[in-house]
Amino acid sequence: MKFTYLGTAAAEGWPAVFCNCDFCNKARKAGGKDIRTRSQAMLGDDVLIDFPGDTYHHAVANSLNLSAVKYVFITHTHSDHFLPDDLEFRGSCFGHNFISPTIEFVGNEMLYQIMNNKFLPSLESSTRGNISATYIPPFTPTIFGDYTLTALKAQHKPDETAYVYLIEKNGKTLLYLHDTGLMPEETFAYLRDNKIKVDFVSYDCTHVLTRNKNGHLGLLDCVDIRNMLAADGVVHDGTVNVINHFSHNCGMLYDDLTAEAEKYGLLVSYDGMVINI
Ligand SMILES: [Zn+2]
Ligand SMILES: [Zn+2]
Ligand SMILES: [Zn+2]
Repeated sequence: MKFTYLGTAAAEGWPAVFCNCDFCNKARKAGGKDIRTRSQAMLGDDVLIDFPGDTYHHAVANSLNLSAVKYVFITHTHSDHFLPDDLEFRGSCFGHNFISPTIEFVGNEMLYQIMNNKFLPSLESSTRGNISATYIPPFTPTIFGDYTLTALKAQHKPDETAYVYLIEKNGKTLLYLHDTGLMPEETFAYLRDNKIKVDFVSYDCTHVLTRNKNGHLGLLDCVDIRNMLAADGVVHDGTVNVINHFSHNCGMLYDDLTAEAEKYGLLVSYDGMVINI
């Protein structure tokens, strides 16, 4: 399974939209892996995880043909993970010869309600007909094409049931833990009780130097969660562990962060990073 990080920042991006802090100015000067856009990932060439406003930039920067996308798995409806306005341009006036005739958004009840009650009715009927939204309940494996998707409960955005995802394809399994603070016990119990073993974990590391707060984690929390998952047999010696979703307030640019994360056996994501599992 090919997994690509398209955007690896927290909500405001890094450099942040309007910020003049030292870490944003250092990132502007350094460029490369220190430029982080809003949170999104891709599986193969036909699945996106989340749909921020930077989706168009991700397509251009990575030479992606988004007409091939069949499914978009949405974790929650914060704007850095779900901003559907560009779906207007999936209409026949704006795009042609789509590789996938349809695109299906999948997620929690809030996603389902926003799409079906508000956003899709605002589109022209010919555009609307190519786009659908599907609700999946937590802890219920559901098949989408070659992928089996299981929503697990995050600890994030209290006004909706934010999801983190367990995703399987061809015997390979990944855990996508964005966005979340320390997940509720029922999420750990699901993985433990179903004897899930994962090949790759992407951890919320928004705060880096500080700890679990406001529905996000820091570096030592990621280490704790990795160790908890290892104690349950979910994470094993062959698991690739990557930290992701960084705030400019976190206090470290890519090189320093990589040196710190290496001490704990963790890799650091960057925009465009590919993980083959
Ligand atoms: Zn986020
Ligand atoms: Zn800043
Ligand atoms: Zn969020």
